[in-house]
Amino acid sequence: MLKEIYKIIKKYNTVVIARHIGVDPDALASQLALREAIKKTFPSKNVYAVGTGSNKFNYFAKLDKVEEWQNALLIVVDTPDKKRIDISNLDNFSYCIKIDHHPYIETFGDLEYIDDTASSASELVYRLITATPLVLDKEVAEIIFLGIVSDTNRFLFNSNAKTFASITKLLEEFDLDLPQLYSNIFMRPLNEVRLQGYIALNMNVSENGLGSIKITNDVMTKFGVDVGSAGNLINNFNYIEEVIVWVTVSEDVKNNLLKINIRSRGPVINHIAEKYNGGGHRLASGAKVSSMAEADALINELDEACKNYIEKMGGKNEN
Ligand code: AMP
Repeated sequence: MLKEIYKIIKKYNTVVIARHIGVDPDALASQLALREAIKKTFPSKNVYAVGTGSNKFNYFAKLDKVEEWQNALLIVVDTPDKKRIDISNLDNFSYCIKIDHHPYIETFGDLEYIDDTASSASELVYRLITATPLVLDKEVAEIIFLGIVSDTNRFLFNSNAKTFASITKLLEEFDLDLPQLYSNIFMRPLNEVRLQGYIALNMNVSENGLGSIKITNDVMTKFGVDVGSAGNLINNFNYIEEVIVWVTVSEDVKNNLLKINIRSRGPVINHIAEKYNGGGHRLASGAKVSSMAEADALINELDEACKNYIEKMGGKNEN
């Protein structure tokens, strides 16, 4: 499959690489690492990484602003379904390849390389590069490293022997400046840490082990934190004894909706998120709802999932 993907890349003079809306470091890293590897292997090709960026990720190379192409190959990374691809004219491509680590939702590519046991889309791009003549140099290695480290939250999640083997090879082969790379992804303003403290103090924890908090626009304004960064704090609440699923509901006044972030250390949550205009991984999902009543319904379903999970585990609130 990886060699087949390489053959197709080789055939096209123009390659456009897209990923999901709501950009995150792994989505960006996988598209940028692939762009650089293709450009370095085939300097005469036009290779573009497209989609809406974010100032938060300025430490990555820039995205490309192109909207027109002809006879181009589209590669979509880190995206399981068509509606979440961050691109305007999706149907204007000669061939489409999907490279993804989310659980399968639908087929939209002519060729799809999916491994939902992989830590990250960046790890899949690493596999593609190392299984084919695509160039892996220090710049590409750094981007892949950032993608894997951030999507696994420093190897807390979805990290298996293949993940560690990839990281070992990157470190053996390249002199990566780890303190610098870590500060790129993990440095954050004090405001965010203070909001994290607010969440810890105010999170409601149900008797079934569901932690939930509604973060209003007023609270975000008070702490000086935007909605994306507020939702991201979800990643800092794992391994709390009394909490097995945790959810933040953040008011997004600009888009007139409520942004939901959910994490779990047991119950499968993505099928619940899918019912609320969302989806994601088994234990890490997101959703968007338009009213607090919907958010409450989602919270109730998550609480029910916790309850069922505890019953299945024989009454123990742990996995
Ligand atoms: P987040 O909580 O935003 O970091 O998202 C966790 C996971 O859920 C990622 O794999 C996202 O791609 C996915 N996800 C987040 N929001 C949505 C949504 N509205 N629809 C589908 N998947 C989502």
